[in-house]
Amino acid sequence: MDGLLTFLGTGTSMGVPTLGCDCAVCASTDPRDRRLRPSVLLRWQEQVGGRERVVVRERIVIIDTGPDFREQALRNGLTRVDAVFYTHSHADHILGMDDLRPLSFAVFREGGPIPLYAAPETAEALERIYDYTFSPRATYPTRARVELRPLAERTAVHGVEFLRVPVQHGEMQIAGFRFGRAAYLTDVSAIPESSFALLEGLDNLIVSALRHQPHPSHATVEQAVGWARRIGARQTWLTHIAHELGHEETNRMLPDGIQLAYDGLSLPINLGAAN
Ligand SMILES: [Zn+2]
Ligand SMILES: [Zn+2]
Repeated sequence: MDGLLTFLGTGTSMGVPTLGCDCAVCASTDPRDRRLRPSVLLRWQEQVGGRERVVVRERIVIIDTGPDFREQALRNGLTRVDAVFYTHSHADHILGMDDLRPLSFAVFREGGPIPLYAAPETAEALERIYDYTFSPRATYPTRARVELRPLAERTAVHGVEFLRVPVQHGEMQIAGFRFGRAAYLTDVSAIPESSFALLEGLDNLIVSALRHQPHPSHATVEQAVGWARRIGARQTWLTHIAHELGHEETNRMLPDGIQLAYDGLSLPINLGAAN
């Protein structure tokens, strides 16, 4: 089965342009230098029903709902979301959750809240921030119809399996995801040895690379290139990019098979069994 992955945002937590900055990248007119907060969307066609009447349903999964989620949904014509996977609880990855509301009402009418898959620490942050949504006492009538679910090692969503790939983000252990022959690892500062085994046989690896200078909780371009070489995906895409990296000039110096991603870029993904 084939899917299509779209980068909803490829910027770091502050976005690019960064507020108050007039550097060459922030002032660039190249649309690929404008980066919303990091998130991806995966869509595929699910065949539902028996032999006589097969109905094809479009399925859409989002990884992270950052503060730009509403704008990203508008740009990409999103009319439904079947599930959300969360990597971790930092603001640039969760603060758009409330904008699932209108989409959740439609799904609710189809028969269920939107499942949000999150590790305990992320679920606690969501429950704290969106108390009016998740509290058992919540009575806010137009709250999002969403349901927190524990993040398992493997989660099947309408025929596609999402494999949790643990990665290190500074002191935190957070979640990356593998689906078919692609993986999305954002906010990475280190990849545990055991996670490399989950990343064999990839066509597309998406991994974060902040800038060239070291940062305590994010990989540099050089570190990400090192992992990309070891993992050996056919193509590696860098994301969660700060304003130190201009699109054109950075791509010119990157080795073959490794490129910066940009907002709106779409890639066909083979969604056959993960491994
Ligand atoms: Zn981040
Ligand atoms: Zn983070």
